[in-house]
Amino acid sequence: MKIIEKLHRESPAFSFEFFPPKDEAGVEQLFQTVRDLAPYKPTYVSVTWGAGGSTRRLTIDLVRRIKKESGIEAMAHLTCVGATKEDIAGVLAQLTEAGIENVLALRGDPPRGESKFVKTEGGFGSGAELVRFIRGGYDFCLGGACYPETHPEATDAETDLGYLKEKTQAGTDFLVTQLFFDNRDYFSFVERARKVGITQKIVAGIWPITNLAQIKRITGMCGATIPPDLLAKLENAKEPDAVRAVGVAHAIAQCRELVAHGVPGIHFYTLNRSHATVDILEALRKSGQAA
Ligand code: FAD
Repeated sequence: MKIIEKLHRESPAFSFEFFPPKDEAGVEQLFQTVRDLAPYKPTYVSVTWGAGGSTRRLTIDLVRRIKKESGIEAMAHLTCVGATKEDIAGVLAQLTEAGIENVLALRGDPPRGESKFVKTEGGFGSGAELVRFIRGGYDFCLGGACYPETHPEATDAETDLGYLKEKTQAGTDFLVTQLFFDNRDYFSFVERARKVGITQKIVAGIWPITNLAQIKRITGMCGATIPPDLLAKLENAKEPDAVRAVGVAHAIAQCRELVAHGVPGIHFYTLNRSHATVDILEALRKSGQAA
């Protein structure tokens, strides 16, 4: 089923993002996570596309297997990095054959060690170009990425929003945000998006912090900010369990406020683990904000 149809029916929608594990033990761990999270009835789950298409086969196999074994709707991420139009068409054919109806269409980051995205000859130069191509010849439901704190390569927020509008006009059905830790960034972004005529549902991306070094590295790359008061609490926590407790408590507070404000969906960056997400969803159940 197309995710957009589910987003119209289920509010708020909860979804979980996974990445393709490196080995068989990681795959087993991922499927255990899927089983642990299934009782929370996710609207969909998604599987990322590795840098430079390195996980191509795995991403396709995983979305197929998750959908078949758990019955949960699955979305494949897909990037333009290192791919020609024919490569992309090949992936889309495999996804169609696998019964996958949903794609998160992305430009992708420059390959490791390179600072600038370079369009592959015969490929696509932006998320919008990829969306336009898929929309023109296929029947997938299409998600697109967006950035409440502005994409790190963008010259300014207004220009970034202009390109986002172009991407939505090219044919996205809904948007999913980059992770953010201050809900005011999300609320003001949605307001700015509506002002420029972006009408699609904007699903909030939530990263439950469980490891300080890791989140510092991630935010350093993706341009999201850890608010100073949260950072201070995490740094004071010191012990791993205490850091996790601070991170999860922050995510619970974020989700409660987002749901109270009528967010259409929350997309959890799970890192293939269930515990933090389960703690958040249990807290939302207690406040009557999740089924
Ligand atoms: P775009 O929409 O193309 O935007 C990228 C930059 O280019 C922006 O600065 C934008 O302002 C600018 N821009 C857009 N159009 C133009 C134009 N016509 N001319 C000039 N500039 C332009 N990466 C992965 O490798 N695999 C994944 O699975 C993955 N999943 C993600 C999931 C989510 C929810 C999010 C938010 C990000 C994900 N990413 C993933 C990261 C993503 O690939 C990077 O953030 C990437 O740098 C941008 O991708 P995009 O599709 O948003 O790009």
